[in-house]
Amino acid sequence: MNTKLFIVEDEADILELIQLKLEAAGFVTKGFERAEPMLQRMQKDTPDLIILDLMLPGMDGMEVCQKLKSDPSTEKIPVIMLTARTDIEDKVKGLEYGADDYITKPFDAKELVARVNAVLRRSSWESSKNVLSITPDFMIDFNRYEVHINQKRADLTLTEFKILQLLTKRPGWVYNRSQILDYLWGTDKVVIERTIDVHIRNLREKLGEFAFMIKNIRGVGYRFSVNSEE
Ligand code: CA
Repeated sequence: MNTKLFIVEDEADILELIQLKLEAAGFVTKGFERAEPMLQRMQKDTPDLIILDLMLPGMDGMEVCQKLKSDPSTEKIPVIMLTARTDIEDKVKGLEYGADDYITKPFDAKELVARVNAVLRRSSWESSKNVLSITPDFMIDFNRYEVHINQKRADLTLTEFKILQLLTKRPGWVYNRSQILDYLWGTDKVVIERTIDVHIRNLREKLGEFAFMIKNIRGVGYRFSVNSEE
């Protein structure tokens, strides 16, 4: 599949040059001399990466970047900012607004292609992160063993994390206490089953408003469900 790049650059000859070099490197490109038509185009067409000039007539690059990065439907699209200025302050600002990289003009074609490839690689690695988002305010990062509630990291113990991991693996599925113990400690369990209740109680406390998602099935065990009616 072809990787599609949108490029916004108001200087027509520079735009043409960038397109030429990137197409020679195997990318599909679409050029825009203003940001507004690109944003319009994005209503029906999503690029894999955007190269964005900083100084543009109309909406400038910084504004566009901020807009893209604050919208959940576009925030994951990598943005490389392009600027004639070498001012460090602009660079910092660009990165603050969520730009993924920064290239100063004049640049050579090889560098541009290398930077585009590097940013694409990084972003595909990031999207392969093992993150389960139950709601936008309740996310579990299985690689980092972290739970985020309302954008804040919840301080779970490893045992609590593993219980949550087990329950969310198969939502709706009921696990009895001895299955949970097996999962946590294998067969050499010296802990009694009631210990699970204590861990679950602590876990629920830390999940705050999402505590209801861990259901107690009386006399059987526990299960995970996002349904509040149960
Ligand atoms: Ca410009």
